[in-house]
Amino acid sequence: MKEIALPPLPYAEDALAPVISAKTISYHYGKHHAGYIKALNGLISGTHYETLSLSEMVGLSRELNDPGIFNNAAQAWNHDFYWHSLAPAGKGGEPSAELLKAINESFGSLDNCKKALSQAATRQFGSGWAWLVAKGGKLLVESTGNADTPCRQQYVKPLLTIDVWEHAYYLDWQNNRAAYVKAIVDGHLNWSAASSRFASARDDWRCSNGSRP
Ligand code: MN
Repeated sequence: MKEIALPPLPYAEDALAPVISAKTISYHYGKHHAGYIKALNGLISGTHYETLSLSEMVGLSRELNDPGIFNNAAQAWNHDFYWHSLAPAGKGGEPSAELLKAINESFGSLDNCKKALSQAATRQFGSGWAWLVAKGGKLLVESTGNADTPCRQQYVKPLLTIDVWEHAYYLDWQNNRAAYVKAIVDGHLNWSAASSRFASARDDWRCSNGSRP
């Protein structure tokens, strides 16, 4: 049978410390992310889902209203995308000229874009995610609840995400989600990855599997 594998972390578990500690990553990646994939593999075993890519599983399970598979497939996709949306301090690069132009057209400035993303992350009620996405040449900030993901929409290319489930920050920041979000937005977003995702959106609007643009 075909199984979805847990993708490797793109950095060491302590690479984002002290904003996200090695202990948080060891649980978040090693227990939560791995747990979604294990549950997903159990659910798809022997079904028609086995032949699909992870992003196809997200889309089909949503269409067929199959919440068990949707929640686990979406969380598997979201988490891989999240790890690749973050970078160690000083390693996240800057938006490309092309991405910066779109940011300025959509938000007025990079600062305003960061503010909108921070606000969406901080205000999302309960568990969920904040996203910077491209729709056509336009950039938007969105938030989604629980496992929900923009990956289920057509013609949306996610560029960056921030996990705001408590398991993402509670060991390091307790209930201070705003401080976690600020520390991520100020120093740990992977703008190089966002730029290559944005560049690839010209050719392909579908969500691809996790980390790949
Ligand atoms: Mn998470």
